Amino acid sequence: MRMLFVDDEEPIRELMCRYAARGGYDFTAVADGQEAIKLLNNSKDNPVTILITDLSMPGMDGMELLDYVEDHFPDLIAVLITGNDNIKHSKASLVVVKPFNCGEMLAKVAALAVK
Ligand SMILES: [Mg+2]
Repeated sequence: MRMLFVDDEEPIRELMCRYAARGGYDFTAVADGQEAIKLLNNSKDNPVTILITDLSMPGMDGMELLDYVEDHFPDLIAVLITGNDNIKHSKASLVVVKPFNCGEMLAKVAALAVK
């Protein structure tokens, strides 16, 4: 199971990488949607199972990234992170509202892949 984490804020990426390493997850973090798409397309040898993306990012936002993923990687499990708890529907399997506990969030997300 490989996780790809997309967030424009470096401190959050670093924090998540630390928790992911502690949890033993195969985890990669990138800063934006374009980088995420590049990585998804170049990871045939070790495909991404779960995409965790921030909603609010400069350039391509999380919704646009989920649109792309729905079209090109329909089997990918998508998780959306947002500061807005009014997001009612999206293309994500799970919506995580900020602030969240990193360790708990990773465990919850990983559980989606073993269902
Ligand atoms: Mg953001």
